[in-house]
Amino acid sequence: MKKEFVVIGLGRFGGSIVRELVRLGADVLAIDTNQEKVDEFAKIATQAVIADTTDEDVIKSLGIRNFEHVIIAIGENIQNSILTTLILKDLGVKQITVKAQNDYHARVLEKIGADFVVHPERDMGIRIANNMMSSNVLDY
Ligand code: ATP
Repeated sequence: MKKEFVVIGLGRFGGSIVRELVRLGADVLAIDTNQEKVDEFAKIATQAVIADTTDEDVIKSLGIRNFEHVIIAIGENIQNSILTTLILKDLGVKQITVKAQNDYHARVLEKIGADFVVHPERDMGIRIANNMMSSNVLDY
């Protein structure tokens, strides 16, 4: 059976997750409030919809609770990221990965039950610095 994911927020981070999951053969429901983003991902994701995930009724109507894994890639709007996480956790979604904007954001996300909290910019910076120190070959 195909793996199924929901990606909320189609910025650079969320967008690259959608592309890679699809390349790896997964089914992906891509969601954003922005029409242009959704139009762009309509050709890439299994399904792309315009929706505001801080609205519980909208989340229910999309059946997001039936997906195993949801990735919340809303960056700048910390309130929207926290609200979306809270609603999905309350609805019983098993695995939620959330992009944190800073350490305080990460702490709130952990407290409300986010299963995986990621810091892509920070972690990539650490990785690149480590690779630069440990190798002559620049392979990031
Ligand atoms: P990048 O990954 O490009 O660095 P970013 O961290 O700056 O992105 P944002 O651009 O703030 O993240 O957010 C990513 C996307 O999340 C945007 O396209 C935005 O429209 C979408 N978004 C914000 N709030 C919501 C919401 N409540 N429901 C759905 N999508 C949302």
